[in-house]
Amino acid sequence: MQEPDYFDEDALVAVLTTQPLDRALDYKAPPGGCFRGAFVEVPLGPRKVIGVVWGAGKGGFDLSKARSIIRVLDVAPMREEMRAFLQKCGSYTLTPMPSMLRLATRAPGLSNPPSMQKIYRRGEAAPERMTDARQRVLRVFDDYGGLGFTQKELADHAGVTPSVIKGLVKQGAVLEEDTPRDLPFPHLRHDHAPKALTDAQAQAAKALRDDQREGAYSATLLWGITGSGKTEVYLEAVAEALKAGRQALVLLPEIALSAEFMARVEERFGARAAEWHSGVTMTERRRTWKMVGEGQAQLVIGARSALFLPFQNLGLVVVDEEHDNSYKQEDGVLYNARDMAVLRASLASAQVVLASATPCLESWTNAQSGKYRLLELGARYGEAVLPELRAVDMRQVKLPSNRWISPQLEAAVKARIARGEQALLFLNRRGYAPVTLCRKCGEQIACAQCDARMVEHRFLNRLMCHQCGETRPIPDVCPSCEAEGTLAVVGPGVERLAEEAAERFEGARIATLSSDMFGSARALKAQIAEIAEGAADIIIGTQLVAKGHNFPKLTLVGVIDSDLSLQGSDLRAAERTFQQMRQVSGRAGRAEKRGVAMLQTYQPEHPVLRAILSGEERQFWRAEADERRASAMPPFGRLAGIIISSDDEREAFDLGEYLARNNNALQAIGAQVFGPAPAPVARVRGRHRVRLLVKAPKDTPLQGAIQTWLKGLKLPGQLRLAVDIDPQSFY
Ligand code: ADP
Ligand code: ZN
Repeated sequence: MQEPDYFDEDALVAVLTTQPLDRALDYKAPPGGCFRGAFVEVPLGPRKVIGVVWGAGKGGFDLSKARSIIRVLDVAPMREEMRAFLQKCGSYTLTPMPSMLRLATRAPGLSNPPSMQKIYRRGEAAPERMTDARQRVLRVFDDYGGLGFTQKELADHAGVTPSVIKGLVKQGAVLEEDTPRDLPFPHLRHDHAPKALTDAQAQAAKALRDDQREGAYSATLLWGITGSGKTEVYLEAVAEALKAGRQALVLLPEIALSAEFMARVEERFGARAAEWHSGVTMTERRRTWKMVGEGQAQLVIGARSALFLPFQNLGLVVVDEEHDNSYKQEDGVLYNARDMAVLRASLASAQVVLASATPCLESWTNAQSGKYRLLELGARYGEAVLPELRAVDMRQVKLPSNRWISPQLEAAVKARIARGEQALLFLNRRGYAPVTLCRKCGEQIACAQCDARMVEHRFLNRLMCHQCGETRPIPDVCPSCEAEGTLAVVGPGVERLAEEAAERFEGARIATLSSDMFGSARALKAQIAEIAEGAADIIIGTQLVAKGHNFPKLTLVGVIDSDLSLQGSDLRAAERTFQQMRQVSGRAGRAEKRGVAMLQTYQPEHPVLRAILSGEERQFWRAEADERRASAMPPFGRLAGIIISSDDEREAFDLGEYLARNNNALQAIGAQVFGPAPAPVARVRGRHRVRLLVKAPKDTPLQGAIQTWLKGLKLPGQLRLAVDIDPQSFY
């Protein structure tokens, strides 16, 4: 039986809230009734909470006891498609619905009445006396057409103090108006400033536009080396969606969300798109959430959680740098935004475009099997060609201790500096040194809460645990044997590498880019913009610099330790190393000059490094796919991680052993259980962690089997259990 879409006053409805309950609760529809999907405020005990009308109530209790919905909120109701998305995403990741709803309502003050703010526009009158500052204010209006600004926006754009604006208001040259705070976003024009595309780009763009015009679900892997113009190409699909009056979403790894990117989109479409990420203010978040729901935001540029925005007419989702592992959320709801983007698009009859220079093996395989269309962009845009890749065999290099830059790399850097070009030294290790040890007793300073060494951060003047973020002062005496002056650091982090660089390249301007060295994302972005303009000769950076930023003067990349990411016991170690090395070396020579990438390594004959050096990408993926197929590992088999944590190590193991023994539900689908084993990081924040790994054949109902397996499990006390479907990391 089809449920009704509309419920009359006092009809019993089920309301899903974000409270951790195991089901939706029954309420009576408010005066005037309500639609399914309506956002409502309901009483829960003594509190008022927000929820969504999910369907007809279950009843089965004394109806006179049912409480009423307090009111329907002034926001667009949740669409059927979104409810289906939350439900499917929840059952895929084995996440309870209240947690799913929380993801979909991550905007503050949704229940507040619309608030007002003052907006400034151009007035009729001319100012009595024209000053430079006044002129700048008026010019802002000319530059931006008929737009209104908040006082802060106007003052910032014009570079004036608020008093200048107040003076102009008094004279009628600027008008002050009260308007609702949540303003629609300015209109984007699909044909504002299209770029002339190369033949290859035009071909790919046409394919994407054709798909978009179908108005149906389609999935494409857009594969092209860094700088080949993937962004230009997918912006054409965005243009086509805008033209059709559909909304578009571009997902980027958080770190790649830059002012540079926003400006580029603005240039193409003539106005700013909506932004959604951790750096956006609460007010702006709410505005975006509401306007997306009302169809008043045509394009959103966002981090992974933007997938859960209430799009009204979603026509396109782009996942840029689709291989990036930050798309996998590693706490709370363990979802992979790349996979969920495909799900969301299919439910919305929308187009999904996955873009990458180094796709993940899953996407690569889907493109091979025809599940995704493969569009390939070969050459780089303009003159630039792929950097020349060279290995520096560190076994042949005798470096004095506490030095990490080989003579070959040193000479190459010096040559760049002499020519006024930039060099990047890449080391994916934050801080000064990864290990601090006592030369007397051998003690290595570790985190008290975690199984991890404390990393010295000289810039912050503290030791830091990279697992839990705990910091403490750098001690003068050994915490174990209490000897004085015996502590020594071992190995390099970016800060220490910067020290070596300063010694070797005297007079060079060195900039270190590491996430912990900047107070805010904005400060970091400003610094990156300055560097791109040429404010540094040498850039020293962690993986932060590997993504998306454009440094036109950069012609040399030196990878200090190419073996670092190969060391993990991780299924994806090879794939990740390949992606990272490819990505970093792709930073070199983006403009007219050919770049060089030098990879320092102790194992130049390692198959992954050989594939990188030879540029035989297809060969790498083929080999990697063969290996995974042979061992029935993803994407040719399925994995789920079970993470049990407890204050008490024994208790965690006992539960793990119990689960491993009682696994009939898993056997029924041909799945195996491995473990329990201590997790690679066996203690985090004082909690012991034990892992089980479930391995199942492809195309089996893994989630259902896991649910049956764990059903009725009573977790005593502070024991926690989390299920990670398709785990990306195994820590
Ligand atoms: P990718 O996303 O593949 O790394 P981009 O789209 O960022 O590549 O392009 C790299 C650079 O080349 C950018 O600065 C971009 O503006 C420029 N570019 C690419 N294609 C064109 C084009 N057809 N016309 C003008 N500039 C282009
Ligand atoms: Zn710790």
